[in-house]
Amino acid sequence: MSLLDVENLRTAYTVKGKTFYAVDGVSFSVGAKETVGLVGESGCGKSTLGKTVMRLIEPASGKITLDGHDIATLPEAQMRPMRRKLQMVFQDPYASLNPRQTIWQMLETPLKVHGVADPAERRRIIEAMAEKIGFPKASLQRFAHEFSGGQRQRIGIARALILEPELVVCDEAVSALDLSIQAQILNLLVDLKREMGLAFLFISHDLSVVRYISDRVLVMYLGKIVESADHATLWNSPRHPYTRALLSSVPSTDPAKKIGGAISGEISTKIPETGCRFRARCPIAEARCALEAPELKTLPGGNAVACHLA
Ligand code: SF4
Repeated sequence: MSLLDVENLRTAYTVKGKTFYAVDGVSFSVGAKETVGLVGESGCGKSTLGKTVMRLIEPASGKITLDGHDIATLPEAQMRPMRRKLQMVFQDPYASLNPRQTIWQMLETPLKVHGVADPAERRRIIEAMAEKIGFPKASLQRFAHEFSGGQRQRIGIARALILEPELVVCDEAVSALDLSIQAQILNLLVDLKREMGLAFLFISHDLSVVRYISDRVLVMYLGKIVESADHATLWNSPRHPYTRALLSSVPSTDPAKKIGGAISGEISTKIPETGCRFRARCPIAEARCALEAPELKTLPGGNAVACHLA
């Protein structure tokens, strides 16, 4: 059994009296100690999917099974102990850190909430975490605004990991950082994953970042998963025209790595009533694509693709 199983999940928004599904019938799993990347353009629903898995947004329907427990409909009181296993790292660490708390207080609060009553034990855990994220102990009494973006993201990661979760949802966790700092934070996440036995759902619009960190990748377009592939297959022989277009926009010095053609236009929240959601931008669409929506079909070997022509 996987650590996380998401089954036919839907998340609804109502705009001007009309309901639409930002996440529409999504199914996937994350194994223990696995990093699954979730990639797609801004507006495709990937952040909404991450927040729904976290139960920060309520699902409209579907199942979210964590460690054998369906958490999709758990009341908050029963959800609280599950939150220990499931944590999130946000894009903007500054907005997600309490400006009135010192770093020490920020790390100590979740320990108190989750019943670590002994102050000496809390001290031991906080100091060990500071060492893990490469943060000087002397800085723990300072406030978030006194640190750089990269340091703040280290604090955000420490806060997410202080309860030793099993699964961490990283939502554009390095997108706001300079390239050199991005690399440091990605390497830190890889080291922490190895050391603490973590699993990640790593959400990003940046395929090169997802490629670097993921064992497996899910590609999302307009609320649907259109391709699910292991790292090597996704990079070397992507099946879905949208994945191929995303890959073609990743800078590469090797011309052989330029696969497929760029797509025109931008993602739209207007979901066509019939057929494939990608068809208006697809370079190989044919008549059938306007009539029938392609199912996400599992291929021999476990990868999956939703395209009539893949
Ligand atoms: Fe393109 Fe048709 Fe495949 Fe959709 S189903 S991605 S429109 S070829």
